Formats: sequence, C-alpha cells, structure tokens
Amino acid sequence: MENIIEKRCSFLKSVFNFNELPNNNLKEIAFWGRSNTGKSSLLNSIIKDNIAKTSKTPGRTQCLNFFEVPNKIRLVDLPGYGYSKVSKSKIKNWNRLIIEYISKRENLTSIFLLIDSRHGLKSIDLEAINILESFGNHFFVVLTKIDKINKTQLNKCSKTTKNFLSTVTSAEDEVLVTSSKKKLGIKELKKKIINIIN
Ligand code: GDP
Repeated sequence: MENIIEKRCSFLKSVFNFNELPNNNLKEIAFWGRSNTGKSSLLNSIIKDNIAKTSKTPGRTQCLNFFEVPNKIRLVDLPGYGYSKVSKSKIKNWNRLIIEYISKRENLTSIFLLIDSRHGLKSIDLEAINILESFGNHFFVVLTKIDKINKTQLNKCSKTTKNFLSTVTSAEDEVLVTSSKKKLGIKELKKKIINIIN
C-alpha cells in the first residue's frame, strides 16, 4: 500500500494565491519547516517524481507546491521559513498565503512539521507551532537528518521534543525520526500518510 505514494504521486500545480487552490475533494497533508531542514530531500524519499527539483525551481520556492495521488491524497510542500536572504515583503507574502492555507483549508488533514534533529526546536519553530495550535491544526513533528547525530543525542532530542509537544493540544505526542540519506523512518512516515488516506 505504501508504494502507491511512490508510484502514483506526481506534481499537480504551484499555487501563489489562495484563490488558485485545487478543488477540495481530496484530503491534504502539508510539509512545513525551516529552510534547509531537509524537506525536499524527505519529500523526494516519499515521492518518485523529482519533487526536490520542482520545489527548488526558482519562482516555485515561495509558493505552495501540490503533489497528488489521484483519487487518494495530495501532499503539499509549504515554503520553508527562516530564510534570511528573502526580502521582508516576500516573507510577509509567504506568511499570508501559508496562514490563509493553514487556517482556512477544510481538507487540510494533517501537517508534518520538520525539525533538524541536530538543532531541535528553535524559537522560530515554536512560533510555527503556536500558529498551528492557534488554528487547531493537527500536526506531527518529524526529526530529520538523524544520521548526523548519535543515539544519545537522538534520544535527548526526541525526549525534549516529546516533552514539549505534550503541552501542545493539536500535536501528535509521537515524534517521527528520519534520515533521507540513510532512508531511515521513511516507511513509518509513509504508513502515517496511508493511515490518513484510509
Ligand atoms: P530544504 O531546504 O528543507 O528543502 O532542505 P534540503 O532537502 O534541500 O536539504 C538541505 C541540505 O541538507 C542538503 O544539503 C541535503 O543534502 C541535506 N540533507 C537533507 N536531508 C538529509 C539527511 O537525511 N541526512 C543528511 N546527512 N543530510 C541531509
């Protein structure tokens, strides 16, 4: 079943304005996180269509990129936050579209919030979590790049993150741990997506 995502998911469209969203007949799962957290790499591990390329195409980095398994689900790549090289006005623009999408989209079922396991939750991630909680968005935290840290560090980061999430009502208590490089936790992540489809 996990294979349907790899086999049948492909790029649908890039959205720059809220009124350009595809129809809301399918559940959507969004991927969010700080720039450089490994979002494109992780999406690339889930989807065969070259999502990293799509998401990094100039002009497409600041919009919502939609990928679809026809009749099943859409995966939505949200612009990363905390990238200092972007002008302030553009940041405002991203935020408005992201905030509109997060707060108004009826078929947005869950969000995977990616956190670099080397750094853990930073203040900007806490702001993002605040936003999700304020709109009541159900979300999972996914620790990325776990191949870059040792077991002790991973346990510590997982524990701290879980402790924090236990105070956040709209967050799933479980923390997913992944490495796109070593293909760790990818199967588990796909299982979560399949559970959401069903
Ligand atoms: P994005 O900006 O969040 O889309 O991040 P990218 O997917 O482009 O990754 C940012 C950098 O981290 C790139 O140099 C990737 O090769 C690297 N990277 C991403 N995932 C992993 C991982 O699981 N392990 C390691 N070691 N590096 C990773």
